Order: sequence, then structure tokens, then C-alpha cells
Amino acid sequence: MTGVDIPESMIETLESPYLLDEFREFYTRYPTVTAAVEAARAGDDVRMETSEHAHRVIRVLVPDDGEPQVEELVFLSYEYSDVVRCAYLNADRQEQVLGEILHCLREFVGAERTPSKFVVVSQETETIFPRVGLRILTPASVHTWDEYDGATVDVHEELSVVTQSPDYQDEEATLRGSKLAKILAAAGLAVYHCARCGQPLTYRHPIWPGTWISLDEEGPRCESYSEPFHPQHDDWVSVGAPHISEKV
Ligand SMILES: [Zn+2]
Repeated sequence: MTGVDIPESMIETLESPYLLDEFREFYTRYPTVTAAVEAARAGDDVRMETSEHAHRVIRVLVPDDGEPQVEELVFLSYEYSDVVRCAYLNADRQEQVLGEILHCLREFVGAERTPSKFVVVSQETETIFPRVGLRILTPASVHTWDEYDGATVDVHEELSVVTQSPDYQDEEATLRGSKLAKILAAAGLAVYHCARCGQPLTYRHPIWPGTWISLDEEGPRCESYSEPFHPQHDDWVSVGAPHISEKV
């Protein structure tokens, strides 16, 4: 793009070897918020998607009857997403339980306290699961992306509760005790975890009906099961063990 002044801070950002490719492409094309708004006004679909930590979408919206906005869609980290997906699959009436899940998500992120900052959203996907997350709208009234980051630092701090993984070093923070699982269970949803590995579980996965599975790569095998060692058998084969379901 010609005729766009690139702020000094953005030149440094673009030179960083740690900058993800999708950010580099986006910032190269739109080095300032002002440039992004101008491009959106000219008809560009100003949009960037990244999967760092959690799925995140940034778009610039220029409504006909209002001020330009930067929209961010922030979806749950993989671990929390699995808690929600298992509860969704376990439900008798999934179309009803989606509303419950969104309500619980509001409680989880404290949206009741700060309703103007973000709203919970669900999107249909090509899979059997809806994608749930949060939507933030910020006036695109600043010039640089640095200024935008500064203006949204508080809301991003609050949202880190859903975008960062639970700390596996802290027993209370693991999935089996996660606040989100407890909130969903308190709302009456069928929330189960494995008593051994702590993974959220479903028994209604369409490919594994009636079998307790986690949605990670281990599926029906419990990753925390230790095979007894049989040194006398050269042809010993690991067969694993199932999860032990426990209601949250
Ligand atoms: Zn397990």
C-alpha cells in the first residue's frame, strides 16, 4: 500500500522474528487502524484470523449509519472448549442447551459485571459443534494498532480467563475442578470428567455412542492409566484402559 505512513513501533513489530505470519500479513497490509478503516470503506474485507492460544478473529466494520468499529471474536481455549462440547453432546435437547451454555459462559467470564465490554456468541460450524466465544466491539477511533492494544488491554486481560489453558500444575485449576465445568453442572447440564485423568467426557459422541470418550487424541483411552509392566513377556502389548466417568 502506498501513501501510508508506517509508525516507528509498527516497523519494529514487523521486524520481530516472533511475529506470527498472519499478523505480519495483516499489519503489512494495514499498518495502522486508520489504514484499515480506509480500506474497509473502500470495500476490503479487513479481517485476520489466528489460532495462537485460542481461535481469534479481528475485523474492521464500517456500518453505513455509525462509527467504524474493530470487532474481535475470541473463542474458548481448546481445554475449555472440550468442557463445553462434551456438555453439549451429553444434552438431551442440544438446541435448548446452547442457550444455557452461553448463559454459563457469561457467568464464567464475569460478563454480568461488565455487560458493555463483550457479549457471548455462538457460530454454526461445519462440524457437529457450535463454536462459542465472546465478541468485543471497540470504536476504531485511534490511529495506531499500538494505541488500539492500549485501549483494549483491560478487556483482553479479563478475557484471558477463557483463552488461556488451565494451569495443569495447580490441582484446583485442572479441568476436573474447573470453574466452568462446575458452573455448567450447577445449571443442570450433564457434565462428566474422568476420575483418573480429569478430561471432560461424553458418552454421546456420534462415532462412539455409549462409550465414555474424551475429545482429545486419546479418545476412549485414559492417558493417565499406567500399564503394569510384565518383563517376562517379550510380546507384551499395551492395551490401555477406559476412562472412569464421574459426574461433576
Ligand atoms: Zn481418563
